[in-house]
Amino acid sequence: MSALINDSVIIDSHCHFDFAPFSENPAQAWAQAQQAGIKAMVIPTVGRSNWHTVAELCRQFSDLYYGLGIHPFFSHQHSVDVVAELAHQFTNAKDDYRCVAVGECGLDFAVVDVNRDQQLHWLQAQLQLANEHDLPVILHCRKAFSELVQLLRQQPPKMGGVYHGFSGSYQQATQLIDLGIKIGVGGTITYSRAQKTRATIAKLPLSALLLETDAPDMPVSGYQGQPNRPERLVNIATVLAEIRGEEYAQVAQATTLTTAELFKIKL
Ligand SMILES: [Zn+2]
Repeated sequence: MSALINDSVIIDSHCHFDFAPFSENPAQAWAQAQQAGIKAMVIPTVGRSNWHTVAELCRQFSDLYYGLGIHPFFSHQHSVDVVAELAHQFTNAKDDYRCVAVGECGLDFAVVDVNRDQQLHWLQAQLQLANEHDLPVILHCRKAFSELVQLLRQQPPKMGGVYHGFSGSYQQATQLIDLGIKIGVGGTITYSRAQKTRATIAKLPLSALLLETDAPDMPVSGYQGQPNRPERLVNIATVLAEIRGEEYAQVAQATTLTTAELFKIKL
């Protein structure tokens, strides 16, 4: 089993690597992840506060890529000029192969203190930027599925995207896949109680799936209470192979190719 894992590199399509505890010693944290078989990572940003930090982090180490976006949690920290500023960031980054996505963006109606209209407005603007700059989108969504799908239908992301941290029904997953959106598979599936999500993900085409940790968030089963880490992606891939009845290597290779293709990552 371990030999198989070592031969099968995987990509973490969603890791907040600029956050603690990784920020204390990113060189060591990235070396540890690479040793575990993590080939590359995509680091989404949350807003103006970390666009620059994350771009710099990706320049420092090999195989780190980033997205630029406004996370719905942070909508209220931005004023209307942020869209022009974000557009300017993409223009500046146009020759930076590490800048691979718009995100993380989306809708979070579980947070009550962030105005819904504002969230809808920023998402609409970011979907437009993605199409203008030929980039895929990294989507975050909680308690706003139908609103999200409506916006995606109005302005389909022509370079596709990923719905990160998917949990939900088969019908929701297929709606996303029909819109050209990949399904981000994270730590949720490592919990046996997440039966609906596990059953959904077991039935979806393997070519629609990406692996992600969302580290330091979303701890995998067995590591509750600790910050999540990119190397735990191996646990997620192992469970994904198990619930689908496929070989680890098959899951690793397919998700790696899909992630590399979506984000134009060099393997
Ligand atoms: Zn995230």
